[in-house]
Amino acid sequence: MTNVFNTTNSQDVFDAAKELMPGGVSSPVRAFKSVNGDPIVFDRVKGAYSWDIDGNRFIDYVGSWGPAICGHSHPEVTSALQEALEKGTSFGAPCELENKLAEMVIEAVPSVEMVRFVNSGTEACMAVLRLMRAFTGRDKLIKFEGCYHGHADMFLVKAGSGVATLGLPDSPGVPRSTTSNTLTAPYNDLEAVKELFAENPDAISGVILEPIVGNAGFITPEPGFLEGLRELTKENGALLVFDEVMTGFRISYGGAQERFGVTPDLTTLGKVIGGGLPVGAYGGRKDIMSMVAPAGPVYQAGTLSGNPLAMTAGIKTLEILKQEGSYERLETMTKRLINGICESAKAAGLAINGKSISGMFGFYLCDGPVRNFEEAKQTNSEYFAKLHRSMLQKGVYLAPSAFEAGFMSLAHSEDDIDATLKAFNESFSELS
Ligand SMILES: *Cc1c(COP(=O)(O)O)cnc(C)c1O
Repeated sequence: MTNVFNTTNSQDVFDAAKELMPGGVSSPVRAFKSVNGDPIVFDRVKGAYSWDIDGNRFIDYVGSWGPAICGHSHPEVTSALQEALEKGTSFGAPCELENKLAEMVIEAVPSVEMVRFVNSGTEACMAVLRLMRAFTGRDKLIKFEGCYHGHADMFLVKAGSGVATLGLPDSPGVPRSTTSNTLTAPYNDLEAVKELFAENPDAISGVILEPIVGNAGFITPEPGFLEGLRELTKENGALLVFDEVMTGFRISYGGAQERFGVTPDLTTLGKVIGGGLPVGAYGGRKDIMSMVAPAGPVYQAGTLSGNPLAMTAGIKTLEILKQEGSYERLETMTKRLINGICESAKAAGLAINGKSISGMFGFYLCDGPVRNFEEAKQTNSEYFAKLHRSMLQKGVYLAPSAFEAGFMSLAHSEDDIDATLKAFNESFSELS
């Protein structure tokens, strides 16, 4: 790397993109708005690295927002894809690869006895909600403040300042009527959930949550929280749904539900399961999944669902992850990284609290503990924006928001961690 951090080409492409696409991007966080900068335009990715169109190389802790868990464009995934490509890009008919990936998912994820493939995490969450409602014959759902379940109308709600408020939409264009059945509670607050059940007898279809929150930074469930939700839902005839779009095949091969030993009724998957191609999935108890069309009356369909290329990337990725030691490696490397970050920050006199589980990590620039979204908001976002820029200049690509988790891959080496910690150390001392 040269001393001068030049992003002229990125700037030019992004300026042009802004005239062509809203905000210049295909998904909002990519625009770097919350870190007060303009995005880096990527040219290529490989292993632990990404390169921009100005020739800068970054050690990448976003990993395409999770899918690149084996490292970007893993040679085995790439060659499997090349082979699959020869047979065609889309069938629109059943293919054996779907059985193969379905078997792998069912074997891996404790709650999943039957699975339906879709094209994104958003789709999986939309579909699972329809299924929850159909199975229970109830319309209401409980979600948690700070949890993201894709951009469907019914989930675009966060709680107000009260303990639990009736849903008000987060975005214009979402009618109040679509979110009026969405109840919210603070994460890690079993009492609030208990109250919602008491106030809405026989009306709540289920509780959906990220078993580890990665869309509000990195918040872990307090001991007893997941277990408590399991009991509360059972007692009230409601379903428990883990949105494992981010945590599935990341926290352990069987997801957060395997790691914490709490089995939901239904699970949504995405990100890692597609190995870098667009795949989502929802699955769970056979008696519930049997209600999905054409086995049952709950309609849900997709022209490109179960696409042979996407299935191939997913299968290969899971095969690599399944090998002995993958999750131990992710755990050890990520621990080393987060511990190093926290030590450097503290040495520079900064308040920080950071955590990791397996290959997922995050830190808040404030005193802890952070148990919910309200507490997460204490983080120093202004400082984070400066830190983000400084790390980019030193060749490290972090998620462009103080409220996103970071991701380690199997391709990151000890040398990469050393280089990353050195960059953090320098940034903290320069900025303090
Ligand atoms: C990313 C994510 C989604 C949405 O998935 P998309 O593929 O972006 O539609 C849903 N839930 C969680 C927990 C996620 O992290």
